[in-house]
Amino acid sequence: MSMQMIVEAPKEVRLRKAQKVLEVLWQDGERSSYSCLALRKSCACSGCARAQQVGALTLIDADVGIDRLEASGISGLQFYFSDGHYRGLYPWSYLRELADLADSQPREQVA
Ligand SMILES: [Zn+2]
Repeated sequence: MSMQMIVEAPKEVRLRKAQKVLEVLWQDGERSSYSCLALRKSCACSGCARAQQVGALTLIDADVGIDRLEASGISGLQFYFSDGHYRGLYPWSYLRELADLADSQPREQVA
């Protein structure tokens, strides 16, 4: 058995570009869906990280999408957002955490 912290790569990942939604089917049969906006909010590229450090207000287009998605097999996913932001790797464990978080919160706060 794997440790709790380790999240296996999902069975299926689908990017619905028109709906701006990412869908993930996990190995345990659990399904998660993420709005591109929610994923973009957790961007931690150098620009976003700097803004967060200085407490700057970050403006995100509520209509933000994902142009390109790359799976890094065992590790996670990489998103290229339509506004040019690129965070790098979103590990599976992080995505899973994000989904569990979203489940316990109201659907979406619009930026
Ligand atoms: Zn960013």
